[in-house]
Parts: sequence; structure tokens; C-alpha cells
Amino acid sequence: MITRNFLTFDIEEWFHANYEGIDSSLYDGRVTNLEANVDRLIAICDAFRVKSTCFILGDVARDKPHVVQKLFAAGHEIASHGSSHKLIYPMTPDEFHADIQVSSDVLEQIIGEKVVGFRAPSWSVKSDTLPWFYEILAHEGFLYSSSVYPAKNTLFGIPDFPDTSHYPTSLPILEIPQSVMNLFGNRVGYAGGGYLRFFPTWLIKRVMRAKNNEDKSVFIYLHPREIDIHQPRLKLGLMDGYFHYQGIFGCEEKLVSLLEEFSSSFDRMDTYAKKVSAGEILV
Ligand SMILES: [Zn+2]
Repeated sequence: MITRNFLTFDIEEWFHANYEGIDSSLYDGRVTNLEANVDRLIAICDAFRVKSTCFILGDVARDKPHVVQKLFAAGHEIASHGSSHKLIYPMTPDEFHADIQVSSDVLEQIIGEKVVGFRAPSWSVKSDTLPWFYEILAHEGFLYSSSVYPAKNTLFGIPDFPDTSHYPTSLPILEIPQSVMNLFGNRVGYAGGGYLRFFPTWLIKRVMRAKNNEDKSVFIYLHPREIDIHQPRLKLGLMDGYFHYQGIFGCEEKLVSLLEEFSSSFDRMDTYAKKVSAGEILV
């Protein structure tokens, strides 16, 4: 059996962060390197012939439709990251429904295809959010979600959630949860965002090999700003600032090094979800 890994990008601006006291709407229209960073990510993927899955914010797609077109033309999956990077759990079901309709509409108008994948901003689902969250995704014709951090940190996570792809409810929405490893008896992320920037490349590779040997998929996730050492900076407190910016130097090299070893194992999440739904892959 071939184990599929996934390379995913959350396509959002440098100011789309959900820390307390940060109102990202105040930064709208500021200088941005988003397009240049996405161009670099496309070039890196091209060099390794990897097709990624891109969870794109509706606001970004509305302001920069050509960025979505470029990713689509390069063969990457266009998926939804909601409209404006609002956390899911403080929303009412109706608010969330409206939010994903707006983001799907703008993305689908640009690419002329149905969007089937969704990732919650900042992994902001909780156990009691999940029933209506999956119900609305199913209603909107999504096939999968990649929204759960099956561990706990100060900002997000559901620690008792299964850490492999599965159908959490009777609805046809596959959940592909964030990849976690066991560290001193606790689950922790290692293959994306601040976790990928924090842990050394040799450790990430070692865990990926071990997971793949157990036939478990791994997904990498990064944001365009994470390969940009010249990005504009948010005014954050000590801890949030550390989490947000540590490891930025060398993040691109780390991504390239991971692709050097694992590039042939990457698949788009929609391809995988369709095969699972057709019964061609068992989860
Ligand atoms: Zn995000």
C-alpha cells in the first residue's frame, strides 16, 4: 500500500492571526508580500513536481483573484479557509454557514469548479462545535475537512480526537486531522506552522518515516509568510510573538529538505478524499 502524505498551504496575509488584541481588519490594505511568497511556493512545488492543497481565505481571493488563478493553473487544489479568518467556535451555526458560502462563492467563481475541502482558521473547532460544523459542510457539498488539532495547546485543540483520517459523524465529511507525534506522553504537532519551524528537520523526517512505516499519512502545513524573513511584523506580546516568528529563518530550507525526501509521496487532499469516499482507500 502507498502511504499518501499531503503538502498544504493556508493562503492568508501576514496579519491574519487570531491572537487576543489583534484586529486583522485594521491591517487590511497594508503592504504585503503575499503574491511574491505564493510565487516562491509554486516554484518550489514545481521543482519537486508536487501538487499541494491550498486553503485560501475568501478575502484574499476577492482582493487577489490572480493569486488563486496562478495556483489553480499550476495544478494545486483550491480549497476554503473561510472568509476573513474568524474563529469558528464563537460563531453561531448561521454565521458560519454564511461565512463559508461567501468564501466558496468567490473561490468557485474564480476557478469555475466546486471547492470540496475546508480548513478552520486557527484549528478553531471544539467538540461541541463539530456536530453543526460537519452538518453545514455536508450541506454545502464539501467532501472533507482538515480542521482538527488532535491535541491541546493554549489556543486550540481536541486532545481526545483520533489522530488519523476518519468520518467523525454519520455524514460524508472526512476529517483529516493535523499530524501529531508523541512527546513525553503528550501529543504535539510537528509537521506544520510553528511546530514545523520549532522542531529540527532530522526529527520531523524521522517521525514522518515512522508514521509512514505504520501506513499513517502526514500532512505538512505552512503559510506564505513563513518563508518570508522580510514580512511586516505584528505588535505581539512576548509569548505570542515568539510562537508567531520563531524559526522563520531557515523555514524555506526546511521545506525544501522535506520535499527532497518525501516529494514522491504527496497527493492532493481532494484526490485522497474522493478515493476514500469511493471506497478505493480504506480509513
Ligand atoms: Zn489561517
